[in-house]
Amino acid sequence: MNDTANTAAATSPDRQPRRVRHELRFRQLEVQSVTRITPHLVRVTLAGEQLAGFHSPGFDDHAKIFFPDAATGALSLPTAGPDGPVWPEGRKPTMRDYTPRRHDAAAGTLELDFALHDAGPATQWAERAKPGDSLGIGGPRGSFLIPTDFDWHLLIGDDTALPAIARRLAELPAGARAVVLAEVDGPADQLAFETKASLTLHWAHRQGAEPGTRPVLLDALRVLTLPAGDFHAWVACESLAAKALRVHLVSERGANPKWTKAAGYWRRGDAATHDTHED
Ligand SMILES: Cc1cc2nc3c(=O)[nH]c(=O)nc-3n(C[C@H](O)[C@H](O)[C@H](O)COP(=O)(O)OP(=O)(O)OC[C@H]3O[C@@H](n4cnc5c(N)ncnc54)[C@H](O)[C@@H]3O)c2cc1C
Repeated sequence: MNDTANTAAATSPDRQPRRVRHELRFRQLEVQSVTRITPHLVRVTLAGEQLAGFHSPGFDDHAKIFFPDAATGALSLPTAGPDGPVWPEGRKPTMRDYTPRRHDAAAGTLELDFALHDAGPATQWAERAKPGDSLGIGGPRGSFLIPTDFDWHLLIGDDTALPAIARRLAELPAGARAVVLAEVDGPADQLAFETKASLTLHWAHRQGAEPGTRPVLLDALRVLTLPAGDFHAWVACESLAAKALRVHLVSERGANPKWTKAAGYWRRGDAATHDTHED
């Protein structure tokens, strides 16, 4: 059953999201500070001369983060070759995708927010990070720019999506309307978002359940009354959950498939995944 009318303006060209590419650069940065902003979220602020020229215009951009060798502390960074990264002596470090949460060009800083979970080299690095530690970043290689002039915006995600959701809310103009559905473990993990938009915020709690084991977001979405009008839907969370949310939005909530972006930011049981769910 469609409970919103989201197809009428489907052909409007100015609503088409746009991809832009950026020059690929690799940077070695230094940890300036580390802050535990909630029980399950660590903010790492990076700085360094190589941050000059960093560019991230899309709220859901991602950078490839390169971690130092856990045993030696050595950080291996590639150079940009004509066909992509070229690794010194073929040695690739551990790498994972993260959202540039906030880049302050004037202060020369870049913030990354790490969602903490049971196991994984990125989580372990973030839990132990301290000022002076090195971290490598590559990209963002490109950005997906989603227009802001929809009647309203739907943003759905788990802890890993909070940086992108916060960026989108910060960039939406006054007069925009946003509905956010976010999954975290409990009330202590909730964030306050800054936005000029009119925001309706729903938190869904795992209450101690392992992430990705219960359809926390889908259950919450099923009982949400959504506003009327055309909307862009953005979803990022565990991969199977993101897929199920997209199917529900398109088949039961009148979401326009062209305006519904759903990504698996991680996949339960697999390391370092990035899935895009489309028709
Ligand atoms: C485009 C993009 C942007 C992203 N932005 C961010 C971001 O800004 N902040 C952020 O925290 N994450 C973000 N992620 C997700 C992050 O890259 C993954 O969670 C990553 O797998 C974490 O690496 P790890 O080394 O900790 O765990 P891995 O070694 O990759 O995985 C180890 C185990 O942990 C599980 N696992 C992985 N992630 C989670 C999780 N979040 N919760 C529970 N179990 C998990 C895996 O299924 C696997 O079984 C983003 C992902 C993508 C694709």
